[in-house]
Amino acid sequence: MRVRFRGQTRREGVLIEGPAGWGEFSPFPEYGPRECARWLASALEAADRGWPAPVRASVPVNVTVPAVSPEKAHEIVRRSRCGTAKVKVAERGQGFAEDVARVEAVRDAIGPAGRVRVDANGAWTPDEAVARLKELNRFTLEYAEQPCATLDELAEVRRRSDVPVAADESIRRAEDPLKVRASGAADIAVIKVQPLGGVRNALRVAEACGLPAVVSSAVETSVGLAAGVALAAALPALPYACGLGTASLLDGDVVAAPLTEEEGALAVRRPEPDAAALGAFELDPGGPDARAWLDRLRAAAEHLGVTR
Ligand SMILES: [Mg+2]
Repeated sequence: MRVRFRGQTRREGVLIEGPAGWGEFSPFPEYGPRECARWLASALEAADRGWPAPVRASVPVNVTVPAVSPEKAHEIVRRSRCGTAKVKVAERGQGFAEDVARVEAVRDAIGPAGRVRVDANGAWTPDEAVARLKELNRFTLEYAEQPCATLDELAEVRRRSDVPVAADESIRRAEDPLKVRASGAADIAVIKVQPLGGVRNALRVAEACGLPAVVSSAVETSVGLAAGVALAAALPALPYACGLGTASLLDGDVVAAPLTEEEGALAVRRPEPDAAALGAFELDPGGPDARAWLDRLRAAAEHLGVTR
């Protein structure tokens, strides 16, 4: 990673090749076999079946602004051509004044016509969220992603705040969207392919939500990002920019032509791994890190009930 993001400084994963192409299995380190099984299902869908046909040729994406200084935030937004920026707020170890300064810098950089959303990753209490969103809305927010941790708290913020609420961490399993819908907790659903077990499952989840969907990545390589792009390309409606412009958060990639944004959008395409790029990041096949990944893969496969 170029910058720490969601507590991660390094991304690892496994690429799986099948008759339909390459899939990515890159669950976060703390996930156990049950959770990893869905991520594996996503990789196997990519490798064995491929994805539904796209209904659009490009997908608008937001530029992502990590918990950096206002000067750096300004530079990140100015360097991108995106019309939407997503700003990390409520970073552990930082104060609200830093959030205000960062969001102000992003609004200044993107201009009055740009859209600015914030992501608190569930860190605020409802009272904090209501007060802080009111303050941050001086810079006109598009929405707030997961301001609080629980559905009840999100529903409370949604009742008490003018800023629309998006559910992200609250949607990780196939049954979650029904709960989000029933609790009135969100205006927007953030949908990610790997945690939901693949593009087809994620499409069903998005439909069950009955809410506008924003497809986001789990900070994958371009092989994994291509699955997110396929989902965004297959959704019947796509009213918001997606969180798929994350290839630039990585210090390298495994394909020759990474899925990076051009003019604020990603082309709907599926890049193949490149031998030289793969070689630069490959783990020692006999080493402990590679063996640990094979163990995770086997445990996930066992949970999923696949053998091969
Ligand atoms: Mg989020």
